[in-house]
Amino acid sequence: MRKAIVVGSGAGGATAARELQGKYDVTVLEAGGEFRPFSANLSRIEILKRIGLMRDAREIRFLFGQMKARKTRDRSIMINGGAIGGTTTLATGNALRVDHDLKAIGIDLDAEFEELYREVPVSTDHMKRWYPTTRRAFSIFQDMHLNPHPMPKMGDSRKCINCGRCVLGCPEGAKWDARKFLKDAMRKGATVMTECAVERVIISGGKARGVIFKEGWRTEHLGADLVVLAAGGFGTPAILKRSGVECEDRLFVDHVLTIAGRVSGARQNTEISMPFAAQRDGYILAPYFDYLSYFFNRRWKFRAADTFGIMIKIADDCTGTVHGNRIEKTLTRRDRAKLEEGAATCAEILWRLGAKERDIVRGTINGGHPGGMLPLTAEDSGTLHPSALPENLYVADATLFPNSLGNPPIFTIMALARRVSRMCLEL
Ligand SMILES: Cc1cc2nc3c(=O)[nH]c(=O)nc-3n(C[C@H](O)[C@H](O)[C@H](O)COP(=O)(O)OP(=O)(O)OC[C@H]3O[C@@H](n4cnc5c(N)ncnc54)[C@H](O)[C@@H]3O)c2cc1C
Ligand code: SF4
Repeated sequence: MRKAIVVGSGAGGATAARELQGKYDVTVLEAGGEFRPFSANLSRIEILKRIGLMRDAREIRFLFGQMKARKTRDRSIMINGGAIGGTTTLATGNALRVDHDLKAIGIDLDAEFEELYREVPVSTDHMKRWYPTTRRAFSIFQDMHLNPHPMPKMGDSRKCINCGRCVLGCPEGAKWDARKFLKDAMRKGATVMTECAVERVIISGGKARGVIFKEGWRTEHLGADLVVLAAGGFGTPAILKRSGVECEDRLFVDHVLTIAGRVSGARQNTEISMPFAAQRDGYILAPYFDYLSYFFNRRWKFRAADTFGIMIKIADDCTGTVHGNRIEKTLTRRDRAKLEEGAATCAEILWRLGAKERDIVRGTINGGHPGGMLPLTAEDSGTLHPSALPENLYVADATLFPNSLGNPPIFTIMALARRVSRMCLEL
């Protein structure tokens, strides 16, 4: 059987491995190890913060090694998952279809989305467990004509215990993540190699011949007939560049800023993250307990149980780039204007919820939806294969998106990765 290498085991990689295994003998190379949810007691973290030991969000790696945090020059924090399942294990489980920009260049993913909705359980059943403050917030959003919608969530809502730690990994297995697709691939015979970080793709004679990867201190080589890169919006362009494939400096990350207020007894920290969202022009608003700010931001000083946050997630301008491990990404004037417009609305909502003006604080700006550095164009719509790539090297993640979504991308990445895999099956 022909051999395929899939790099990365997140939304794109797990989907590709599951599709390809059988027609190809698939090996998944994943830089990280097994995923374990964060299990530390929050009161201990609060003590560490009080004595000044929690200052820099990059230190999250000491508490929770599966979350990778890097800082840009303008001090935004870039987040991604670095273990099996990729960033899907840190996701809040939102399942949205956001493919208008792909449709606009002639890529119709109707069939792939239909299949995904059949295979991945998605529901808004979590609504039944919303706390009174969240219900009140929903009504306030409605009163302000913000048109909120309960968020469709991937997973089995019956298993959810409202622990509020979705972004730290679900301890109950209630939240769906890409490890499920990876297991399917393994059941069909795929091999998954952890702690194997791919350095570059070996390209000669216009074809990908395999990859060079690091396993511990050892440098190894693995040959293949097909290579699919799904190392995420930060990881894939880094590998491409090291392999001599030019990318475009069009990185987007969907910056997030959370505005929070002291709202007594809100208990948002023990409720499912992002229970609903309102779509605005170029950004979304959604209730969100921002752990990154709670852990590391000195302005974030209220008791967790009395903190209610609302995130602004923007569709940012595609202006950044990745150089190896370094991410260059700054907020443009347009990005800042969206954040400011959203922040003013959040402050109004929090005030209506009962927070005093002096008790409304800003969180740490972060980004965790990277992509855009090898964008598909209308010319690629039939092949999903940008011409910069050798014929048997494919990309199956948000690196291919023409623009930022400003919205949760997992479902759209999985639909696209599925289609990309089908193109590979035709090779
Ligand atoms: C806190 C947070 C919450 C989120 N919530 C949601 C949500 O609710 N819904 C939603 O749709 N989206 C959400 N997202 C975004 C979503 O999780 C990611 O956009 C998505 O997982 C990206 O999928 P991917 O396959 O491209 O990359 P990833 O899922 O990041 O997977 C890439 C994998 O490749 C591995 N890798 C990287 N480099 C290498 C290398 N050189 N060699 C080998 N392996 C490598 C990484 O370790 C990783 O496991 C969230 C993101 C964050 C940060
Ligand atoms: S709130 Fe529910 S879905 Fe989220 S981590 Fe806890 S148990 Fe899992």
